[in-house]
Amino acid sequence: MRPDSLNPLFVDSESLDGVGPKLRKPLEKLGLTRVKDIAYHLPDRFVQRRAVANLDEASVGEQIVVALTPTDHRASAGRGPFRIVAQDAAGNLCTLTYFGRASYTARKQLPLGETRWVAGKLDQYGQMLQIVHPDHVEVESSALMGKLNEAVYPLAEGLTQPRVAGLVAQALGHVPELAEWIEPGLVARMHWPTWRDALELAHRDMHPAARDRLAYDELLANSLALMLVKNANRARRGQALKGDGRLREKLALPFPLTGAQQRSIGEIEGDLVQASPMLRLLQGDVGAGKTVVALEAMLIAVEAGAQAAMLAPTEILARQHFETLRKLAAPTGVNVALLTGRDKGKARESLLMGLVDGSIDILVGTHAIFQDTVSYRNLALVVIDEQHRFGVGQRLMLAQKGKVTPHCLAMTATPIPRTLTLAQYGEMEVSRLDEMPPGRQPIDTRVVAQERLGDVAAAIARHIATGQQAYWVCPMVRESENDDLAAAEARYAALRERFGDAVVLVHGQLKPDAKDAAMERFASGDAKLLVATTVIEVGVDVPNATLMVIEQAERFGLAQLHQLRGRVGRGSEKSVCLLLRGEHLSETGKERLALMRETQDGFRLAEEDLRLRGGGELLGTRQSGDTPFRIASLEQIQKLLPMAHDDARLLIERDGGLGSARGEAARLLLYLFERDWGVQLLRGG
Ligand code: ADP
Ligand code: MG
Repeated sequence: MRPDSLNPLFVDSESLDGVGPKLRKPLEKLGLTRVKDIAYHLPDRFVQRRAVANLDEASVGEQIVVALTPTDHRASAGRGPFRIVAQDAAGNLCTLTYFGRASYTARKQLPLGETRWVAGKLDQYGQMLQIVHPDHVEVESSALMGKLNEAVYPLAEGLTQPRVAGLVAQALGHVPELAEWIEPGLVARMHWPTWRDALELAHRDMHPAARDRLAYDELLANSLALMLVKNANRARRGQALKGDGRLREKLALPFPLTGAQQRSIGEIEGDLVQASPMLRLLQGDVGAGKTVVALEAMLIAVEAGAQAAMLAPTEILARQHFETLRKLAAPTGVNVALLTGRDKGKARESLLMGLVDGSIDILVGTHAIFQDTVSYRNLALVVIDEQHRFGVGQRLMLAQKGKVTPHCLAMTATPIPRTLTLAQYGEMEVSRLDEMPPGRQPIDTRVVAQERLGDVAAAIARHIATGQQAYWVCPMVRESENDDLAAAEARYAALRERFGDAVVLVHGQLKPDAKDAAMERFASGDAKLLVATTVIEVGVDVPNATLMVIEQAERFGLAQLHQLRGRVGRGSEKSVCLLLRGEHLSETGKERLALMRETQDGFRLAEEDLRLRGGGELLGTRQSGDTPFRIASLEQIQKLLPMAHDDARLLIERDGGLGSARGEAARLLLYLFERDWGVQLLRGG
């Protein structure tokens, strides 16, 4: 239950004055649905303005506040701008220019012959000084003197700066004083303001200490929550699994395991014999061979008389894992089954029976495998593939499934920079597959201008003629999923004209049957070219596909490009990846694509991605997908996370139940950042 003192912060934004249905959408778009979100909606930057007596004192390009008296209103014909000629105290002329509907308000705000205080950026248009769309027009100078240093907020369509500033001011009025949750010595050493002051200061000017403090709060909340998970897990009763090796012995893998695979399996085996449930992350680059490691782990569970389940983020992937595992496990005689949301009726019934009576040893599926209606005879190990798709909350839900808490092996190919591993997986032990299976050929990566689309199609034709297959990944259009879809459909139609039936299309909104059918045709080699949105990003394994085209590659993050590229280079044939780039490429954009060409080391790419994105940039959780933070920038994460981690550890060591005064404050913090699953664990839930 959330402490009462926080309630005002969690009230709907609509409770603020002036927020009606019209503002709902833009606010939602910015993630500002509650008062707390608005209070935390920090400015991107600040405009610094100078008040000048007349325009002689100002220079072009400067942000100023000046008194002007309109002498002429000039409407232009058609769609041209509305211009107001105005005079300063020294007799200099200046044009105030308005486009579109803004001219109506301007006409009223700036009547002829009456002096007004105007704030804006001074420009020059031909011989004439001008201010385009002044930021403020006021009757009294005092109204602008408080805006010499003004916050600039991230906006969405339908919102203006003054609107947002007004909402922020209201929201700040609801911010309560809260007890300090940070270690007092640290607060003093860093010269950090209190939480409430920090929020106010961060809206008032670029106040690094205030910003850092707010970021630190978020990092501390995260570290604390993860540590509580770890602690609670340690206290849980699991099932010690000791395999006798009889099934693993029968596996007839077509290749020897790499050293890294053997080591990871050893680490997992060591966890499984413990009674406290395993929480281990298996981190390994695309193609490093995580599936086999998972299989060995699941066989240990079966040898010990229990069941194992493997969770995949998509149906395509679940199906593919099922096929792979069934084939690999065939010599062992274990019973592998597949369950997805689509299974209905009799088939589903008998499958559920098999889980209850224990005749199914290993179940593969989507999140359907954890529905309430699914029960197991003795589920002792859960493997989660492509872990980054699931949040900690979901991980915890799985833990509730068995009578005893199942062991958990999470797998991810996302090469997480070291700084972020702690943030994301602080509660887990980590095994790394840092060695690729032998015999992999490097992928020949080239950057090609989008105009050469014709040449690219010709290259595909030649490629297909040799009997090999190819992927074509369509651009990621950030604005909307529908645009992505439209781009993929259009490309598919164009490629079909050339390659006919040999092309298939897969995207997230296809009906599952159609998606499967398309994937099936591609996997079987019947279809030669797979056009796709980023749904193929994770896991799909077709070794004969050795060419990948990625359109508008500059729009993708390095980590994502790396994941995509990992779909090729899986067999012994040489693979090629063509990164098509648009016309206007920033310096950073160029550098990123060059890096893709240069290296295939996922960790290096992740670190460089972090560096190139640079400091100071605020990350939205959704946009980046690779940090769980809204407030803390990458730079702040690097600087402050180790401190937050230590702080959290010390607090938990001293006061694991969070019962002391500071512990109580820390609970508030967990609720504030919605890491309250951490608190719930404290109650032994
Ligand atoms: P990922 O780590 O991306 O999940 P997979 O488990 O799909 O990788 O493995 C990629 C490919 O490498 C598969 O075709 C798999 O059979 C193969 N593979 C796995 N381990 C080895 C190994 N030790 N030697 C050779 N090939 C291997
Ligand atoms: Mg995989």
